Amino acid sequence: MICLTLSGSTLSACLSEIRENREYIDLAELRLDYLEKSEQERASEFPSMTDVPVILTLRRKEDGGKCTLSEKERRALLLSALDGDFAYVDIEEDVKKNDVEEKARAKGVKIIRSFHDFSGIPDDIYSRIYRLAERGDIAKAAVTPHSIQDVLTLFRISEELKEIPKIIIGMGDWGIPLRILYRRAGSILTFASSGEAVAPGQISAKDLKLLYRADQVDEKTGIYGIIGNPVLHTSSPQIHNPGFHAIHYNAIYLPFMVDNVRVFFALAEYLRMRGFSVTIPFKDAVLMYLGNITREVKQIGACNTVVRMPGMWKGMNTDYYGFLAPILKDIESGRIRNSLVIGAGGAAQAIVWALRNRGVKVTVLNRTVTRAEKLAKINLCEYDTLENASKYEGKVDLIVQTTSVGLYPDFDANPIGSFHFTGREIAYDIIYKPKMTKFLKEAEKAGCTLHFGEEMLLEQGKLQFELFTGYHYPKLTPQM
Ligand code: NAP
Repeated sequence: MICLTLSGSTLSACLSEIRENREYIDLAELRLDYLEKSEQERASEFPSMTDVPVILTLRRKEDGGKCTLSEKERRALLLSALDGDFAYVDIEEDVKKNDVEEKARAKGVKIIRSFHDFSGIPDDIYSRIYRLAERGDIAKAAVTPHSIQDVLTLFRISEELKEIPKIIIGMGDWGIPLRILYRRAGSILTFASSGEAVAPGQISAKDLKLLYRADQVDEKTGIYGIIGNPVLHTSSPQIHNPGFHAIHYNAIYLPFMVDNVRVFFALAEYLRMRGFSVTIPFKDAVLMYLGNITREVKQIGACNTVVRMPGMWKGMNTDYYGFLAPILKDIESGRIRNSLVIGAGGAAQAIVWALRNRGVKVTVLNRTVTRAEKLAKINLCEYDTLENASKYEGKVDLIVQTTSVGLYPDFDANPIGSFHFTGREIAYDIIYKPKMTKFLKEAEKAGCTLHFGEEMLLEQGKLQFELFTGYHYPKLTPQM
């Protein structure tokens, strides 16, 4: 079930939130602590105003809510709200048995017994969840993972405490896989926002329902994803998920923030993942865990695609093909013979090799010149410092910008700011957020032909899709 956490300060604002999200949600949580005082007193009317089941919650400040009432006042407010037909009421772990609980049980309102930890994951999380559910209630643990190991620990709860009805929430960025794969985590529901997140890391109900189809995940769903750090800005879920849906392929693709590749592989085994994309800074780090790599990966020394094979993981590189696709015709026609590659990082490794492999002359310019030198030596090309960029004005057909300079939110930066385009060059920036970088704006002013990071992302994503599924990417335009 997808549950919309209502954040309105009036009942009518909460109703509007439900109306706007009705097609994406199965139930809603009325947060009494978000309501104005006069509205709190009318809360009992709320369940009859809507057709979705409603959870009643009055969250204390120390648990991440806004309620500063005394415990006696809080109890009184909950008791009066329970005159309405709420489907669930949230009662915190440490609240002793009282008249709220009695009234809920008498009315057949299900009790969600919750605890919150905003600093981490308690060591005794398994036994605490077990105790919360002792009286037949739904156990809810909202905790804060800080590593991929913590994420693995939380997913494992589903196996350790299989029979217990529960809701496991990983708050913050690390917890996003648990919110999306809530069914694999053994949770009966996941909380969603209507836009602005009410709790850290909350995803919109629309994305959970339409992009991820999180409520459709079952035992057979193939799990795919992208690992990186940072990774949450990625547009890859917008490529793969609509693709799966269009070909009726039971699969989901989601971002995983990772700090330790070895532990991520353990999680990938646990979730029986079928494949994943790899982004900064793990394109090299994954290599030692792969049982098989393609010729390109070996040559480039970087892997952006990992696919499960019988008994092992295989590494591939689709950046190579994705980069080439938009300019291949120009290389084949001889329009591109001489190029300048700005940057010598992971992406540049694939790009320089792709260009050299197609017979294009390359000069690598990088801030750290030793890195440019190393890359140039491996690929038999030239190198120079960034400061010398102007030496190449008018002498190259293609300029590829591969550094992270100009990446969101650094809109106004350009690694070769003093370079003058003649207008005859093809300018290609592999950054895709923003689409139009400062580097490309300068090139556009001079009348250059432009290529965007979005094109490379989409092309490498389509190839990845084929490697993941064995099917061609369907005819659709992803909204990235
Ligand atoms: P990386 O391995 O971390 O390399 C970063 C590069 O940027 C290095 O050359 C680094 O130079 C340079 N750099 C960073 N900060 C700089 C600064 N302040 N001034 C000058 N140079 C600077 O990263 P990557 O994997 O190559 O990715 C780079 C960019 O490409 C990212 O924005 C990524 O999103 C994008 N990308 C796009 C696609 C796509 O499909 N469109 C695919 C892959 C990557 P030093 O060596 O001196 O540190």
